[in-house]
Amino acid sequence: MSRERAFQGLQCTECQTVYPSREILQKCVKCGGLLDTIINPEILSEISKDDLEHARSMWRYRAFLPVDEKDKIVSAGEGDTPLRKLSSFHGNVWVKDETKNPTGTFKDRGASLAVTALSSLGVKDIILSSEGNAGCSFALYSQIADLACRVFLPRQANPAKVELSRKLGAKVTPVEGTIAEAGRRVEALAKSEGSYNASTFVTPYRHDGKGTMALEICEQLDWMVPDYVVYPVGGGVGLVGMWKMFSVLEKIGWVRTKPRFVAVQPTGCAPVVKAYQSKRDDVDEWKNPETIAFGLRIPKPLAGKWILRCLRESEGIALSVTDEEIRKSMGQALKDEGLLLEPSSAATFAALPQLYGEKMIDRSAEVVLIATGSGLKTLEQF
Ligand SMILES: *Cc1c(COP(=O)(O)O)cnc(C)c1O
Ligand SMILES: [Zn+2]
Repeated sequence: MSRERAFQGLQCTECQTVYPSREILQKCVKCGGLLDTIINPEILSEISKDDLEHARSMWRYRAFLPVDEKDKIVSAGEGDTPLRKLSSFHGNVWVKDETKNPTGTFKDRGASLAVTALSSLGVKDIILSSEGNAGCSFALYSQIADLACRVFLPRQANPAKVELSRKLGAKVTPVEGTIAEAGRRVEALAKSEGSYNASTFVTPYRHDGKGTMALEICEQLDWMVPDYVVYPVGGGVGLVGMWKMFSVLEKIGWVRTKPRFVAVQPTGCAPVVKAYQSKRDDVDEWKNPETIAFGLRIPKPLAGKWILRCLRESEGIALSVTDEEIRKSMGQALKDEGLLLEPSSAATFAALPQLYGEKMIDRSAEVVLIATGSGLKTLEQF
């Protein structure tokens, strides 16, 4: 297989500067804006569905990802997760079961891609802030690729996430305060030491990994597109990544439409919902975030503008759910559907009564919920 590579460098989402060759970059060198990878749909449109890789993982879609043909893929079998219909809701609701990933969350997709790209570029050690799940994922892939990995997370993080990260060889440092404080620590350290900051959207190599969920969903539905994708927004990596891949699929003609996104956040930390509902184009920092959904306790997502742009383009919906509703959904998802979810993940289930009850969506619509993470790492919150 030697066709031209669809991946053609990086582009700043603010000043539009293009970095044509693959480089060890974090944010835009000129303006500090976030970088996106450039995946050229014209080149992609020359491949056919039969050309997809036979891998039983997200690497089936290698042609859509920002890697070189010679890159050594760092994989533990992430992706290729089940999409199945739920029985307990009066509607057409499917769940994409990301708890089946190697460390129990969809963070494995982003980490597999980022560690593949970074180790191919010669990066030897990475540092990141995390609420816990990204720490586990980066610890796993760093260990496979023999990179040094340091994780900074809030002291309040779930103990199993800390323990798994450590067992996988990462150096874990608890930080007082939220992930925002951890992020500032990491930024300062990365700057003073010159180490690579692999935090959410500081590196451009994570969101396309989560974007493979969009590709898998369409293929699992026989190249039909669901009407809605319900997503629990923290840093927005999955929303931005999936929207990009749905758009690419439409451009290359493999599908005819794109879904509408439903962004779900907890009422105790809902900066994206607030900004979207008040038609702002950037997200204000949420003061005193307080929720059991630690993965969604992101007071000011770095990609705020980008997330809002994707939501607007998809004619999306944004709504919030209480911790009480989340807690109740955790019990229901397990008893009715056999899904043991962590609070951040159960938030999408908690949104359904509102979505149907207030007639925001029709019962006949095809709806896909992303079950982002397993409740086994958050048992003390069950
Ligand atoms: C990180 C995380 C989220 C939020 O994902 P983003 O892509 O950052 O918005 C949701 N659920 C779980 C379980 C997570 O770990
Ligand atoms: Zn720029």
